[in-house]
Amino acid sequence: MSVTDTDQRFDIAIVGTGFASSFFLHRLLKNTDSNARIVVIERGRKRDIQWQRDNYRQLHIEGSETFTTGFGAKEWLYTPSFGGGSNCWWACTPRFLPEDFEMKRRFGFDRDWPFTYEQLEPFYCEAEDLMSIAGDSRSPLHPRSRDFPFPPHIMTEPDRALANAYPGLFTALPSARARKSTARRPACCASGVCNLCPIDAKFTILNEFSEVYADPRVTLLLNTEALHLETEAGKPSALVCSNAARIKAEQFILGANAIFNPAILLRSGLEHPLLGRRLNEQIGVEYEFDLDGMDNYQGSTSLTGHGYMEYAHAERRSRSAALIETSNIPRLRLEKGKWRQRLTIKCIFEDKPSQSNYLLCSQNDKPELHFSGYSGYALDAIDRMDTRLSSLLSALPIEKLNRREIKDTEGHILGTTCMGKSVDDSVVDGFGRVHTWPNVVVLGGSNFPTSSPSNPTLTICAMSLRSAQHLFPARTS
Ligand SMILES: Cc1cc2nc3c(=O)[nH]c(=O)nc-3n(C[C@H](O)[C@H](O)[C@H](O)COP(=O)(O)OP(=O)(O)OC[C@H]3O[C@@H](n4cnc5c(N)ncnc54)[C@H](O)[C@@H]3O)c2cc1C
Ligand code: SF4
Repeated sequence: MSVTDTDQRFDIAIVGTGFASSFFLHRLLKNTDSNARIVVIERGRKRDIQWQRDNYRQLHIEGSETFTTGFGAKEWLYTPSFGGGSNCWWACTPRFLPEDFEMKRRFGFDRDWPFTYEQLEPFYCEAEDLMSIAGDSRSPLHPRSRDFPFPPHIMTEPDRALANAYPGLFTALPSARARKSTARRPACCASGVCNLCPIDAKFTILNEFSEVYADPRVTLLLNTEALHLETEAGKPSALVCSNAARIKAEQFILGANAIFNPAILLRSGLEHPLLGRRLNEQIGVEYEFDLDGMDNYQGSTSLTGHGYMEYAHAERRSRSAALIETSNIPRLRLEKGKWRQRLTIKCIFEDKPSQSNYLLCSQNDKPELHFSGYSGYALDAIDRMDTRLSSLLSALPIEKLNRREIKDTEGHILGTTCMGKSVDDSVVDGFGRVHTWPNVVVLGGSNFPTSSPSNPTLTICAMSLRSAQHLFPARTS
């Protein structure tokens, strides 16, 4: 359906079909009545899994073609396609730790989130159920009101040695790579090429959320870019899109990620000193070791273990915490009898959001990203990890370190529409409402006031469910 042809008016216009928008829409459809008129605008096309396999790609344009870089070239990775990052993600789904939400109160660092772990916890459970997450429910670091829907994946022998050495601090990595087959997905077979899963075992919007977009209340506009909002008497009233579509609605929901949420708001004339600022992402440092006499690669999925030794209860006042992720993806040795005696781990560090990492965007231009570098907060912790790692891994027979590499990107773009309690300290409130435009709601990692070493997507999904539940509560008849 073309909106310009019909000049329809909608109740709600949603931008994007990634995790943030899709989880919001899922809850919205449960709570709104059968007459609701909802339009979803997605700049990408819909590429089903067969098309992705045949073409060995997911997109018709690369994410990097949709923005420009100013000073400080850095890779920022995302997928402009129906389903957004769910197409290419690796499906690692840790919850944040309770202290991630209280960095100011616990460590005197930067700022707190406008809600706590306890307030988000029921929505973590719901997001885990919707994605059929496999995980170890006994982990004491993340208080839970119900178990994971699936048991954890099988760990490797190095994982088990670390779990014995660090009870409660080393655990099976929770993931949306199916442990057992579900109604729509086969069990993961540990092939380790998850950015395009050959058997469709990881959760994607395409394989689990298609009926949300088939709902008769939803009009889906693909290949249409949301450009800016128009205001009437100071209140947003229409969304102007590429191909001249102009969409009138009562409420606007932006789930376009941490580059395009602020870009749309900047183009719309919203002014706030934090808008587009504090652009950040986590930093991954990969290490490859040879092991002496210990075989690896017995796990039932690609990435199998999470170590919280430098994360839970770490002193985060002046130095970043790090999450240690172990890999079951075979990287074989050539020596006879030793080919499985190798281990790759990644340490993931949070960065400190900074005003000098930001994006600019003027009318109809692409966003321009400026990056002045990672913070000393993160770089000091990376240096410290280099010296601490051999003692942290002393439960393993490390023979030698082969390789250490700082990754170009983690694909976790965060921070550019900072949320908080009032317009004095933030762009949006704890439910994503723009303080000065309450009929505009922003979703996703752009709202994160501080980072975390944990992968962000489960938290993004839980926040979307919480916002939709609060802003559109179920009607009681
Ligand atoms: C290779 C890779 C691996 C990853 N692995 C993990 C992982 O294991 N665990 C984890 O937690 N996270 C992972 N991530 C991060 C994860 O993909 C993101 O956190 C997640 O996709 C963010 O969801 P979102 O809905 O906010 O944004 P997106 O998924 O980016 O969705 C935004 C959507 O909005 C659309 N859009 C953007 N601008 C406009 C516009 N102006 N008009 C219309 N539509 C627009 C885009 O096309 C896209 O479909 C990974 C990322 C990458 C790149
Ligand atoms: S390990 Fe293989 S089967 Fe499992 S999710 Fe990744 S690509 Fe799919």
